[in-house]
Amino acid sequence: MRTAIIGGGIAGLAAAYELEQARRTDKNIEYTLFEARARLGGSLASEIVDGAVLERGPDSFLTEKPAAAELCRELGLGGELVPSNDADRKTYIVVHNRLIPLPDGLMFLVPTKLIPTALTRLFSLPTKIRMGLELLHPPRPSNHDESVATLVERHFGRETVDRLADPLLSGIFGGDASQLSARTVLPRLVEMESEYGSLTRGMLAAHREMRARIKAAAKKNEAVNGHTQANFRPAQRSIFTAMHGGMQQLIDALTARLDPSSVRLFTQVNVLAKASGGWLVESRGAEEFYDTAILATPAWVAAGLLCRVDPALAADLGGIPYSSSITVNLIYDEDQLGSLPDGFGFLIPVVEGRSMLACTFVHRKFLGRTPTGKAVLRAFLGGMKNEALIAAPDEALVATVRRELTEILGEEIFPRETAPEHTQVSRWPRAMAQYAVGHQERIERIAARVAALPGLKLAGNAYDGIGIPDCIRLGRKAAKELIAARELAS
Ligand SMILES: Cc1cc2nc3c(=O)[nH]c(=O)nc-3n(C[C@H](O)[C@H](O)[C@H](O)COP(=O)(O)OP(=O)(O)OC[C@H]3O[C@@H](n4cnc5c(N)ncnc54)[C@H](O)[C@@H]3O)c2cc1C
Repeated sequence: MRTAIIGGGIAGLAAAYELEQARRTDKNIEYTLFEARARLGGSLASEIVDGAVLERGPDSFLTEKPAAAELCRELGLGGELVPSNDADRKTYIVVHNRLIPLPDGLMFLVPTKLIPTALTRLFSLPTKIRMGLELLHPPRPSNHDESVATLVERHFGRETVDRLADPLLSGIFGGDASQLSARTVLPRLVEMESEYGSLTRGMLAAHREMRARIKAAAKKNEAVNGHTQANFRPAQRSIFTAMHGGMQQLIDALTARLDPSSVRLFTQVNVLAKASGGWLVESRGAEEFYDTAILATPAWVAAGLLCRVDPALAADLGGIPYSSSITVNLIYDEDQLGSLPDGFGFLIPVVEGRSMLACTFVHRKFLGRTPTGKAVLRAFLGGMKNEALIAAPDEALVATVRRELTEILGEEIFPRETAPEHTQVSRWPRAMAQYAVGHQERIERIAARVAALPGLKLAGNAYDGIGIPDCIRLGRKAAKELIAARELAS
């Protein structure tokens, strides 16, 4: 079986790794990984500058999704995994240039603790009253998909969309709450609304169930190991996991496992066509035949490649919106700055009218990756509502970030004239898929049409999870399915 993998981001690399494992025991398996750019890894890229890890794209992955950490362990990188410093976890929202901590007890955008919600300065009194009345919300069947903004506004009012949902979604994935699908992005809340009506009551019930499960596990532990319930603590996992040397470590380890003659850099695939019993791949003016193909490019590229093969499939792929993002890393000597607020950093609601969407205090979020005495601030800009920014020159972006940091943190903490020791700007045009309203129906249509094209698989962030673990899972799954289909056929 000869497989063409088109796109060498983390999804394509994970697929190639899986095929490489199979190739080592089965000489009939061959693959070629086509990557348009000069390097593999797609959005995963980092460098170490003066001992500080600077991430150009993602800085970590969600620990609760196991595919990424599992792959790292398989690659011998288990010792390089760094948990987020959750003991110091605190995130602020910027409201009229003031940093207001997220109130305690927020679960998936839902307030569950009375006193912190009543006391927070994040919400006005009418919003707090509305949050109280939300407990009376009647159950509502979820017949149609709707935006996250519509769902949140129905329960907690517009201010909660502007000050909570929008910054959380845009600061993390450049998304826009008024476009993102509630059913895809917040499926638990949609289920809770139809079961309980009130999201707060639904969340509290889920919390009670979880505590009951922990109690039951403690009892079991006591019976098996003789530990008392008071001593029992379920293993605590950090929320995020990073790599000690940056995400490039994962890309380098994956690349080192591949057969070098199977990897083609600077090789953009221009045409993918169906051929008898397989697929024709055109790149650099040459056509080659492959039995199977894994398309691990962004969906808008896949749409272009498949427009002659299946126009309806291409239309659905091309309809998946993408946002662009920019990261700006700044290294400072801590002595140059005042004392930064505690915690991991802050998110900036779009209604604040700023270019920045978020800022992470990198040296606080992951320990041991920044030299003592240095501070790394990472700003995130762009997103669905500020696409034009991607064209701005580096100096203008750095100047904007520095000005906004001074305006938000104040002159004493972030002096206007103090220049960073190092700056790094990275642009990611149309890199982040947006799961817009109707995403699930679109994905079902795409899956049905791809199933009718034998030997073709799709992988990447456009389909079933935007984060690194999901891209790894989907890349490996695509390769495994092709291997399994071949075994069945032989
Ligand atoms: C700034 C930023 C921050 C992020 N932060 C996080 C985070 O903290 N945690 C997290 O889990 N996720 C994060 N993400 C999301 C995550 O990084 C991406 O969803 C994931 O890396 C996408 O991987 P992919 O392989 O699907 O696509 P990509 O990384 O986009 O790779 C696709 C590859 O296909 C290549 N290609 C395109 N067209 C062709 C062609 N015609 N022929 C050959 N090759 C082609 C491209 O050059 C590219 O290398 C972030 C993303 C960005 C941009």
